[in-house]
Amino acid sequence: RGGGAQREIPFAKPGSLTRVFAIASGKGGVGKSSVTANLAASMAADGLSVGVIDADIYGFSIPSMLGVTRAPTRVDDMILPTLAHGVKVISIGMFVPSNQPVVWRGPMLHRALQQFLTDVFWGDLDVLLLDLPPGTGDIAISVAQLLPAAELLVVTTPQGAAADVAERAGAMAVQTHQKLVGVIENMSWMEMPDGSRVEVFGAGGGQTVSVNLTRTIGAQVPLLGQIPLDMTVREGSDSGQPAVLSAPDSPGAVALRSVAKQL
Ligand code: ADP
Repeated sequence: RGGGAQREIPFAKPGSLTRVFAIASGKGGVGKSSVTANLAASMAADGLSVGVIDADIYGFSIPSMLGVTRAPTRVDDMILPTLAHGVKVISIGMFVPSNQPVVWRGPMLHRALQQFLTDVFWGDLDVLLLDLPPGTGDIAISVAQLLPAAELLVVTTPQGAAADVAERAGAMAVQTHQKLVGVIENMSWMEMPDGSRVEVFGAGGGQTVSVNLTRTIGAQVPLLGQIPLDMTVREGSDSGQPAVLSAPDSPGAVALRSVAKQL
């Protein structure tokens, strides 16, 4: 298609005031999308202008987590993102038929991401969050090419195996010369009614990824937070009312809001 191919990516221009965060994980199911949705909602509630691109082709879940039901609208040859909880949302899931298997090759994904960056009317954003597919696939390279200033956030669970793959995802940043902002450990423990903690997925994964990436990168990669397993986080994702808004004082939401404030 024409037009958009020549358009500039506003967030890649020198002097762009938008901070771009790419949220990565080594594998699926660690809560990367839940973290992205809650960070976005939290930042928007704090008065920032926030956009989210859901580029997780294998599990596009951002629209339902943020309660988006409407498709984006078209104005001339631009796409208007859908607004949910003050967050501008575009998802690859909005452009594929539902209940169809999605088989995307790298170049298609690259073009889709490029189009989301050039043909979507984002307006002035303070923050753009990118929910990446799990792993260290082509999309990480696309992000580095299209958005060289994007900063990487790595989500992991405390489990050793999850931490290993998360570390590999984070180490991509060395090759792509991107900044690694930090590590977020999710599903860290479950709080019992008596106040004790049960470490369902073990302990130490986030810390290990932080220490090892700091060594690999040669710059501090802090552990930004540990988010407990919390019903409100799951319920918030299922109902389209992120926990940071619907249950802001729950342990999960408190931890998520604290991470958002550090960015
Ligand atoms: P990913 O994006 O890494 O594949 P999701 O964000 O889709 O993972 O999360 C997987 C599942 O776990 C979802 O059902 C989500 O609601 C749930 N979940 C994620 N984080 C938490 C948490 N801290 N507490 C409870 N449930 C969570």
